[in-house]
Amino acid sequence: MSESEARPTNFIRQIIDKDLASGAHTTVHTRFPPEPNGYLHIGHAKSICLNFGIAKDYQGQCNLRFDDTNPEKEDIEFVESIKDDVNWLGFQWDGQVCYSSDYFDRLHGYAVELIEKGLAYVEDLSPDEIREYRGTLTAPGKHSPYRDRSVEENLELFAKMKNGEFAEGKVCLRAKIDMASPFMVMRDPVLYRVRFAHHHQTGDKWCIYPMYDFTHCISDAIEGITHSLCTLEFQDNRRLYDWVLDNITIECQPRQYEFSRLNLEYTVMSKRKLSQLVSENLVNGWDDPRMPTISGLRRRGYTPAAIREFCKRIGVTKQDNTIEMSSLESCVRDDLNDNAPRAMAVLDPIKLVIENFPEGEIETLKASNHPNKPEMGEREVPFSREIWIEAEDFREEANKKYKRLVLGKEVRLRNAYYVKAERCEKDENGNVTTVYCTYDPETLGKDPADGRKAKGVIHWVSADAGIDAEFRLYDRLFTVPNPGAADDFAATINPESLQVVRGYVEPSLKAASAEQGFQFERMGYFCADRKDSKEDALVFNRTVGLRDTWAKIEAQ
Ligand code: ATP
Ligand code: MG
Repeated sequence: MSESEARPTNFIRQIIDKDLASGAHTTVHTRFPPEPNGYLHIGHAKSICLNFGIAKDYQGQCNLRFDDTNPEKEDIEFVESIKDDVNWLGFQWDGQVCYSSDYFDRLHGYAVELIEKGLAYVEDLSPDEIREYRGTLTAPGKHSPYRDRSVEENLELFAKMKNGEFAEGKVCLRAKIDMASPFMVMRDPVLYRVRFAHHHQTGDKWCIYPMYDFTHCISDAIEGITHSLCTLEFQDNRRLYDWVLDNITIECQPRQYEFSRLNLEYTVMSKRKLSQLVSENLVNGWDDPRMPTISGLRRRGYTPAAIREFCKRIGVTKQDNTIEMSSLESCVRDDLNDNAPRAMAVLDPIKLVIENFPEGEIETLKASNHPNKPEMGEREVPFSREIWIEAEDFREEANKKYKRLVLGKEVRLRNAYYVKAERCEKDENGNVTTVYCTYDPETLGKDPADGRKAKGVIHWVSADAGIDAEFRLYDRLFTVPNPGAADDFAATINPESLQVVRGYVEPSLKAASAEQGFQFERMGYFCADRKDSKEDALVFNRTVGLRDTWAKIEAQ
């Protein structure tokens, strides 16, 4: 099914339909709230497609809001990459980019309101003591000795916190809720802590920073968000989300709904782990084509349409599950099969010399860019006496199943002629380096009149006119389906996840842009590397093979 067909349906859209039908809401307003502490990954794409997709289909709005309350871990580089990735995926946020830090003044005001209502207090217990007092899932917590401070004392201490009079970790502001709640998040959660850190948006204005649970619900309410969609691990936090909004003076009452996060086999999705891969140079940056990041997938040759289609196929539910990598791969394969122009590249070259073809002559042949789409046109492919073919496409002898070039037999050169292998030359290790053959000039675009039939078709590149190129062949980054569960996930990295080979491409690829994917016939889907490919030093990344080779291995 194509991407443009039929809106998805899922439990969240059903809730929205109901809210619109009942008049609970007249419009829909969602948000995508990344923390700028890493690059976006394919899991975020699920959330982006959900939030922006809903806004689009219901003629509503979707904000991009940076949830930036952890200044030490955040960086403007991440802010910029996230904006780029959202746009590249085909979405545009409504209005300005929002930052939770835009609301620091108002958040501070709401904290003061809670103190004034006797619903928040300044805590002197150390972080360890707070943990100890919190109790466990089976045992209730204990009240802090500082829980019953007067409103005046709390206001004074909170002001001192804000003025930088306390060291980090000395004090914090906590909500006064219920130390015996079955929901741990409701046991007097911390609302504000002291951090003497420079913030990428607010500079050195603040030395107290609000916690996620306090910030998120208020930011949603300030922005008029109607449906606040997050992943299942925040299910319990919904109590706190509602508690905060119920206890401060604010108009809007957004509702939080949770869906299951995307897990993909053979990769990791935690930003902490992804950032470790980058900082320890286990990959070549956040956009390494083996990374599950949006920028990595893009550099690998994934298209926005393929990623959106993937998010549509996996759907949105409350069930936790892990998706096979092959589901993602089949989305890009389907897209490129339909849309990528064909071209020829030889990745493991040996020379084929056509002895009855005139020396020094170059014949210009035509080749269609797509077998099923004449509207994609044709290109010129130069043919010459010496051409490159894949080493694996020639054998001195072979059985009937081998439908390529064999000594004494004929094969068709793709888009060109029949050739017959006559003899070959080998190097000192016995590897074939050159095959000598003859061609039949009567076989361009037609079979011979005498009814001879070539057994197969092989691709090739002119040795005179072809351009040499580097090919980066990627495999899964990890050797185990769930690397995140390993004691040392870095130890499960696949040492063969990147193989670099050199070969040749037809000259039409000289100006290949990184945005354009190609099917290199019989070899897979490739795109020029956006960073390293230059007109005089081409580099191609293999996006995905023509078939799911893993499925074949697993079935054996
Ligand atoms: P991490 O836990 O690795 O730091 P995160 O979930 O905290 O990741 P955020 O930047 O806070 O990352 O995420 C922004 C939004 O994307 C959130 O609404 C979050 O629920 C959603 N999201 C993150 N990872 C996934 C995933 N794997 N599947 C679906 N949604 C996700
Ligand atoms: Mg987060």
